[in-house]
Amino acid sequence: MTDPTHPLTRRQALAGAAGLALLAGGCSTTVTTTEGGVPIDTRYSAKGQDSRAMFLVLHYTVADLRQSIHILTQQEVSAHYLLTDETPPRIYRLVPEHRRAWHSGLSGWKGHRLLNASSIGIEIVHPGFKLGPAVNGVRERIYLPFPPAQIDALIPLVQDIVQRHQIRPDRILGHGEVTPAYKEDPGPTFPWRRLSALGITPPWPDAARVAAQQLLFELQLPDPAWFQAALAQHGYAVERTGLWDEQTRRVLMNFQMRYRPADHRGQPDAETGALLQVLSGGALPATMAPAPAVPPLLPPPP
Ligand SMILES: [Zn+2]
Repeated sequence: MTDPTHPLTRRQALAGAAGLALLAGGCSTTVTTTEGGVPIDTRYSAKGQDSRAMFLVLHYTVADLRQSIHILTQQEVSAHYLLTDETPPRIYRLVPEHRRAWHSGLSGWKGHRLLNASSIGIEIVHPGFKLGPAVNGVRERIYLPFPPAQIDALIPLVQDIVQRHQIRPDRILGHGEVTPAYKEDPGPTFPWRRLSALGITPPWPDAARVAAQQLLFELQLPDPAWFQAALAQHGYAVERTGLWDEQTRRVLMNFQMRYRPADHRGQPDAETGALLQVLSGGALPATMAPAPAVPPLLPPPP
């Protein structure tokens, strides 16, 4: 019976009961425990948070499927996902995404270091390259294409990971880009341009702007200090030695494998410089850049 001094309508009474039920329900679900059994209350959630996965690093295995599974499950290296070369391709998850996989070693990008802690790694079963006939005693590497079905399977996986972790397009990188000193996967045949066209990675450098800048650089090629500053500004962990040294050649090679795969010998040239200049969005002077020095990576463990 309704108290005449507090005349609740039926609708108000129902709303009040629903609110109480909601409150009770809310309370009962916020009190829980840690996985170790310590009581905690989860009713408050901080605005200031994001995923620990800031980077997505793509690899190829240089091994067949059976060897790849063995290496990535039984040895010291691993990845979150292994994309097979079967028909149709299969995706194995070897490490849960919230755990650290050991795939990118002494890596670096834009001041971030040791990216295993902050990345998701995908290994693609792929032989990498075969050796061609000897020319002057040196057998050239012939990099092999990726089967279209494998890339078709990779793209939704990348999109899913990127969407869930809100990984920035410029942080989707090849292993060789983050570990240029001794890696070059996923190599010059990986379809970076397709990922760019799909909006997964940043827009491809505008061809007309690259051509115009290339003409200028053909008159005078920037010096090693400019290239090193430009490569560092783009993200690569390159030492600013001012010399055409081996570490610069390897970084240039990895840059070319992604943006100018037809010639990826790591030699500086006008087109490579122009691509770097356009990618920097004009932030670099035409001949010298003031980017801050990048500290060298730690030496490899003995
Ligand atoms: Zn790799």
